[in-house]
Amino acid sequence: MSNVITCPSGLTGRIRGLKVKEERILADRKLAKSGGQLDALLAACWEETLDPGPYAFGDAGVDWGAVLQGDRFYALLQIRALTYGPEYAFALGCQNDSCRARFEWEFDLGELPVRRLSEESRAAFVAANRFEATLPDAGVRVWFRLFTGADERRLPQLRRSAGDRILSAMLAWRVLEVEGVPEKDKRGFLEDLSLRDADFLVDVFEQAECGVDTTIEVECPECLTIQEVELPFDQGFFLPGKTRKAKRRDRSSSSRE
Ligand SMILES: [Zn+2]
Repeated sequence: MSNVITCPSGLTGRIRGLKVKEERILADRKLAKSGGQLDALLAACWEETLDPGPYAFGDAGVDWGAVLQGDRFYALLQIRALTYGPEYAFALGCQNDSCRARFEWEFDLGELPVRRLSEESRAAFVAANRFEATLPDAGVRVWFRLFTGADERRLPQLRRSAGDRILSAMLAWRVLEVEGVPEKDKRGFLEDLSLRDADFLVDVFEQAECGVDTTIEVECPECLTIQEVELPFDQGFFLPGKTRKAKRRDRSSSSRE
C-alpha cells in the first residue's frame, strides 16, 4: 500500500502507520475528553503535505482544526488501514428483537464509498466557507458552512447542552445567516422551521460535503436479517489488540463454565 493519500478535498500527503508511542495518545483520557485525540493522531502520522488542496496552511504545516471533517475522517481511516491492513473486525448485536444474537463482522475499509469535494463546494469553501441554499417552504435564502476539525471538537459539548433541541442547535451552529432575519432571531427562526425545510437543509449539507459514508449492511449469521449499522469507532478501531484480549477473556471465562 502506498503511503501517499489524497483526501476527499484533494489534500494530499504522506502518512505513516501508528507506532507504539501513539498508544499514549489513545490511552490519554484527558485528551479524549477534550476531543484532541484525533488531532494528536493526525498530527503524529501525517508526515508531509504534497498538495494542500483547498487549504491555505502556508509553511506552518497542517492545521487539523481547519481541515474539513470528511478529510480528517478519511485520513484516520487510511492511517488505520496502513497500520493493521484494511480488514476491520468488530462485534455487534443483532437488531432483530426476537434474535438479539451477538456476532462478529469483518469489513474491508477500502470498500467504504468516498465522496469527493465537488468543484462548486471547493470554490465556496475556499472563498469563505459560505454556502447558499433556498428553503422550499419558507422561501428565503440561508447561508451555511461545512464543519471542520474545530467544530468536531465542540460537538460533544453542543450535544450535551442542546438536550432534546439538538436539531435546532445543530442547524443554528451550521447556518451562518438567514435572509432578512437578524442574528439574535436566528435560533427562533430555525425552531419555527417546517420539518420539510429542516430535512431539505440536512440534505443540502450532505450534498455540499465531502467524506466517507460509514453506514454498512451486515447480515446476522443466526437469523439472516440484513441490517444497516454505523461502522463503530471505539478503541478497537485503533487498538484492535485490546479487542483481541477481551475476546480471549470471553473465551476463557466461557470454557470455565
Ligand atoms: Zn439475528
